[in-house]
Amino acid sequence: MLIVMNHNAGKKQIEAIIKAVELMGYSAAPIPGSERTAIGVLGNKGYVDDATVRALPGVKEVIHVSKPYKLVSRDFHPKNTIVKVAGLEIGAGKRPVIMAGPCAVESEEQILKTARAVKASGADMLRGGAFKPRTGPHTFQGMREEGLKLLSLASRDSGLPFVTEVMSPDTVGLVAEYADMLQVGARNMQNFELLKELGKIKKPILLKRGMCASIEEFLAAAEYILAEGNPGVILCERGIRTFETATRNTLDLAVIPLIKELSHLPVMIDPSHATGKRSLVPPMAKAALVAGADGLMLEVHPEPEKALSDGPQSLTLPGFEKLMREIDRMISFIEG
Ligand code: PEP
Ligand code: MN
Repeated sequence: MLIVMNHNAGKKQIEAIIKAVELMGYSAAPIPGSERTAIGVLGNKGYVDDATVRALPGVKEVIHVSKPYKLVSRDFHPKNTIVKVAGLEIGAGKRPVIMAGPCAVESEEQILKTARAVKASGADMLRGGAFKPRTGPHTFQGMREEGLKLLSLASRDSGLPFVTEVMSPDTVGLVAEYADMLQVGARNMQNFELLKELGKIKKPILLKRGMCASIEEFLAAAEYILAEGNPGVILCERGIRTFETATRNTLDLAVIPLIKELSHLPVMIDPSHATGKRSLVPPMAKAALVAGADGLMLEVHPEPEKALSDGPQSLTLPGFEKLMREIDRMISFIEG
């Protein structure tokens, strides 16, 4: 529920509302605006009887929010959130952040080489999987903690902070010891126990959209993390399942402006998993930036033909360098 105050409502009237809400057993979150203050009511499980607050002085209207998310919603938090990762700021019209690296960490040589190359081309962050969510159990499952150590090494060597996937609640502590940002993969978007654990840590979270998840389910998943106390969530669209099989997934670019209407959280695009095909990655990366994405996640491999996972969608090092030059020109153009 959202209580909207008259534009001339004073401090005392606002305090009286907060008190009334707390007496009802809920918590109140004042949202100051340029025109008027609104007060979000949190902690209710169902419909709240608004008769008491509606009658108090200074109240303009009471809006019942029936969405399964509140903290994530722009109604409750009109200002864009900026998520800080190491020294970087992501969201709110800041320069888009580029995260690049292999699908999976495969060896020291591979990750060092990739990190140095993507840094030289202008990437802001390194990506790489140590715990890999593979479709079948007979394929490469990732280097696990050894992979985290190699990512740390490559991160220190290149100066790039890194993001890596965490797959289970019991490894959150381990992954958080090493990573600058923790990624929830598409397959785990609705692993609610994992989301709750991630809500308890201080590190930022990159939440990928499930391949069959609606926007509402996506935002409700983010709500789990915020509800446990971690406000640092970045949403990442990585393609959804449709009838189309010519691409690995169907990239839903409309989520960028739509989520920006519905939520204050930053939105990123992963054109690598969204298309599954190297040649489609650069055009979709650029389209995402034009649509207002706060960042991109790109798979890059020094020898994609030898990659243990996702080779066909991985950019080569020169391919990434070329794309970064194009992106740089595009951003300068957009910024005018
Ligand atoms: C990945 O980023 O390597 C990955 C597995 O992505 P997704 O969860 O989007 O499939
Ligand atoms: Mn991958």
